[in-house]
Amino acid sequence: MIAVYLDVDGVLSPLPAFLVPPESAWKGRWDREDIAGFRDVAFHPAMIGALNQAVTRPGVAPRWLTSWEEHAPGGFAPATGLAGRTWPVLDGVIGDAPGDWWKLRAIRADVAATAPDAVVWADDELARQEESTRWLASLDIPTLALSPNEALGLTPVHVAQLAAFIDENTDR
Ligand SMILES: [Mg+2]
Repeated sequence: MIAVYLDVDGVLSPLPAFLVPPESAWKGRWDREDIAGFRDVAFHPAMIGALNQAVTRPGVAPRWLTSWEEHAPGGFAPATGLAGRTWPVLDGVIGDAPGDWWKLRAIRADVAATAPDAVVWADDELARQEESTRWLASLDIPTLALSPNEALGLTPVHVAQLAAFIDENTDR
């Protein structure tokens, strides 16, 4: 099973929304909506569609790892069409502390509990979270870290990387 951990802000939704990336390689219009109390959330239907194709394949187990917590499956997924209404939510943002990133704590516990055969972690903060990337690289299974520019979110290149990684590691 390939575990895919997904952040929302800066990954599925570029920040800030009012700068919705004109230079984005996704074709067509960005949508912007108020979702679950979050104002002006930007998303691109083509990106949502490409992501759905990649992560709804057999053997792929997506999980929410975002401060949106329950609002991700409950709000973001239905509003955008992302197939994430039933993905498990990792929580713990309340216990976040400097030098002790709640997401690293949460993903470590989840990987230990679920023993995936491969791990993908997509979070715009990853590039600045050295302890997290070190931990990911230390796992003895294939891993992929995607750390998009928060102003762009996942690009077509990122989604292609994700799909290729899933191809390579399916049937493990
Ligand atoms: Mg983020």
